[in-house]
Amino acid sequence: MIEIDGRRLNARLQAFAAIGGTRKGGVNRQALTEEDRRARRLLAELAWARGFSVFQDPMANLFIRRAGQDETLPPMLIGSHLDSQPAGGRFDGALGTLSAFEVLESLEDAGIETERPVVVVAWTNEEGCRFAPGCMGSMAFAAGEIPAEWQQKLATDGAAFAGELKATIESLPRAQMLPLGFPIHAYLEVHIEQGPSLEAGGISIGVVTGIQGTRWLNVEITGQTAHAGTTGLAYRRDPLRALTTALSGLYEMIMPSDPDARFTIGRISVEPGSVNAIPDKACCTVDIRHPDPARLDELERSIASGITTEAERQRCTVAISRSFDMPPCTFAADLQQVVERAAAERGLESMNMLSGAFHDALFVNRVAPSALIFVPCLDGLSHNEAEHVEPEHIIAGCQVLAQATLLLVSTADS
Ligand SMILES: [Zn+2]
Repeated sequence: MIEIDGRRLNARLQAFAAIGGTRKGGVNRQALTEEDRRARRLLAELAWARGFSVFQDPMANLFIRRAGQDETLPPMLIGSHLDSQPAGGRFDGALGTLSAFEVLESLEDAGIETERPVVVVAWTNEEGCRFAPGCMGSMAFAAGEIPAEWQQKLATDGAAFAGELKATIESLPRAQMLPLGFPIHAYLEVHIEQGPSLEAGGISIGVVTGIQGTRWLNVEITGQTAHAGTTGLAYRRDPLRALTTALSGLYEMIMPSDPDARFTIGRISVEPGSVNAIPDKACCTVDIRHPDPARLDELERSIASGITTEAERQRCTVAISRSFDMPPCTFAADLQQVVERAAAERGLESMNMLSGAFHDALFVNRVAPSALIFVPCLDGLSHNEAEHVEPEHIIAGCQVLAQATLLLVSTADS
């Protein structure tokens, strides 16, 4: 057993919420801004004060390391992110990062020597709102390289990614530089659920089994524009009729028959867009999500065939292309069991659940067994200044992280 200091953790969360703090009690600490740098500096200073070493890599991922008995063993990695949405909450990301740091301090307070080093990480740009995509830091860490096209990226506020990244790295001159990516034993991340399930179930710990896959499609149906008043049914080649008929069939079929599927049409447009003309083009986007990659393929096929059938019925042609494809991720079963055991040892109830949103753990899971631990947030609200987590749930999440970390660092190397 290891005891964490709940009061210290809550005070830390308050101190970090003040960096980029908004008048409504939220946080605006977008990636690679001066606020982001201030939060990183504060964490590094706290680390140096405790005698831990501080590293960063070329993506400005920030690492804090507590030595192990055997420094040749790959470290246990724990953490999350410090960046926020423009009108974000104080717990999204900060909770996981500061809980991880609390675990490191608690190990130090108790004088517990671990076989492996334990490393806390704050990943760069999880949110992806100032520079897209999200999870840049963990994605590059897992890939072992920074995609060349990122260097040209411009922020929503006009700032250049390359310059902001350089300034962020240079804002911590005392931190040693590490190459991108290094072997790790396992990764654990605490995060707020950003959904209502735990709160509704009165359960304080969610053991995330996986993150559903996401696929985006662009659909374009082409017919023939013609006069609305003079063109009889037999002469019409109406792409909007084809699209709406197909979509209504898909709405009836996909989600009602599969509770794990998500099917969303978020954007629809017609050309030329005239009140008294049959359109010659009808376009829409499709967002499909599912935890099973095979089902995602099936869904894509049934969407394509449903739309093609209706397009042919209207004597229209159809083009469908993918614009985004994020495969689902399944977290390591043995690591999920470690988290369940850690919760049970702390007398906390846990439940298995799927995450609807991406997290850094999804990318880290590509290179090392990873687990994601959810805690409830009030009304499931997140990406909102009113985001709130009850102190008892903050403490519960950190205790489970501490216990699971201890179980994993004492495990003999395999
Ligand atoms: Zn987050």
